[in-house]
Amino acid sequence: MLDFNTHDVSEHLGRLVDAAMEREAATLPPRAYLGASSLGEDCGRRLQFQYFDAPKDIGRHFPGRLLRVFARGHRVEDWMADWLRLAGFDLRTRDDRGEQFGFATADGRMRGHADGVIVGGPDSFHYPMLWENKAVGTKTFRELQKKRLAASRPVYATQIALYQAYLGLHGHPALFTAICADDMAIYAERVVFDRGLAQRASDRAVEILRACDAAELLPRVATTPTHQTCRQCPWQDRCWSLPLSPKLH
Ligand code: SF4
Repeated sequence: MLDFNTHDVSEHLGRLVDAAMEREAATLPPRAYLGASSLGEDCGRRLQFQYFDAPKDIGRHFPGRLLRVFARGHRVEDWMADWLRLAGFDLRTRDDRGEQFGFATADGRMRGHADGVIVGGPDSFHYPMLWENKAVGTKTFRELQKKRLAASRPVYATQIALYQAYLGLHGHPALFTAICADDMAIYAERVVFDRGLAQRASDRAVEILRACDAAELLPRVATTPTHQTCRQCPWQDRCWSLPLSPKLH
């Protein structure tokens, strides 16, 4: 019930915006491929659910607030691209056909889309180099500063290694940038190509797709549904209610 005596309509407006955003998100086509950006995640079974676009548990769809966080990431990426160009980098975010740089392998069943390729700029870098950007919170930003990319965010590191490998951009280190969404500070790291990481991730993709083809479910990442990874998984109920040797569909 609306209270016409209050000026604070945050809850009311938030619900309206959330509902509209969630409706819009529900109209987007499903992603029918294994994304290179997810291949560093620790649960192969979760990647299978994602690949099959299995219905998420009730109440586990991305809420409007999270959709806004994703939207912020896209805007921040555009700003960072503008700032890099302003700083003298020749950054391309689209190829000659006007499409995002990307690759597809395994008959299109594994794909990746890169934020951009830098083909020239200040002498202190070598070109061409892959560019990947993330908008992050303060906690992630501090961890990046302290431990660097590979140790603090292996999923991002895996994504970059795969892009470098499949886009043929492994000759020079990639440029990884992160913007702290709280104070807009910039973190930047040169990421030398990790051949072993790319190979392991590629082999993992083959293993996941093979299991999907055979309708076999890969082992769970944990022994209890209360494991941290499972608590954040949109298929937690589905996963833990399945029998020991289930078929996928
Ligand atoms: S609930 Fe846990 S084990 Fe099951 S798919 Fe999700 S992350 Fe993997």
